[in-house]
Amino acid sequence: MTTKQNFHAHTPRCQHAEGTDESYIQSAIRGGFSTLGISDHTPWPFASGYVSHIRMTCDQLPEYIASLRGLREKYRGQIDLRIGVEAEWFPRYSDWLPRMREAGVEYFILGQHQVDTEEENPYVGSEWALDDDHVRRYADSCAEALRTSWYSYVCHPDLFMRHRRADSFDAACEAAADTICQAALEAGVPLEYNLLGLSLQNGDGTGYPNPAFWRYAAKWGNKAILGVDAHRPMALEDTALWDRGAEELKALGYERVEGLVIPELG
Ligand SMILES: [Zn+2]
Ligand SMILES: [Zn+2]
Repeated sequence: MTTKQNFHAHTPRCQHAEGTDESYIQSAIRGGFSTLGISDHTPWPFASGYVSHIRMTCDQLPEYIASLRGLREKYRGQIDLRIGVEAEWFPRYSDWLPRMREAGVEYFILGQHQVDTEEENPYVGSEWALDDDHVRRYADSCAEALRTSWYSYVCHPDLFMRHRRADSFDAACEAAADTICQAALEAGVPLEYNLLGLSLQNGDGTGYPNPAFWRYAAKWGNKAILGVDAHRPMALEDTALWDRGAEELKALGYERVEGLVIPELG
């Protein structure tokens, strides 16, 4: 009996993933997973009328949940399907998190793609994060998110390193790693070693997972979790990439957790 579990996968509702909901489940079964959590990019009720191109809309949420609930029944006994979202922490919309929970979202993983709100700030994985002050804001917003207890893990904590070379892991980056690691420890949640990022690394030291971040952060003793971050079903069948991620975490000195602490089904 396999214990392979992944809680980070998307659907086309986010406008940058491909494949049907069902094809993600079938690929997860072929990839040897006992549990698949689907965690598409959360919608947010943007007050300004801003329309995001990287997430579903609030109107799509009921259909998302209904589709996954139906598939959970269909594949019961073959794989345990959990229904989540990958969500930022946008303080001004904090009321939206309990509303999603009531709608049927079972768990939240923190993917802090923008600080404050997407309406006002660019992607953290852009050149925006070459500014040390922006790195500090990113880390502070992650820590604030973790103090809310809404989030079960931290997706790609080193997202701010996406455009920084490993040799630009400076004092601000160290401080950011400290802030995030400490907050994750206090919240009792693991850091994600992101396999989508690992598959896209181009060898010039940029991208994520960032070796300088993970080497530096090891001193905190955080637990780590692998996240496929599947934007296409076949990513769930890449067992070589999964094994490579596990080996790298081991070499870096991290204890890897497989499961996630999420509330029981109501
Ligand atoms: Zn995505
Ligand atoms: Zn993701």
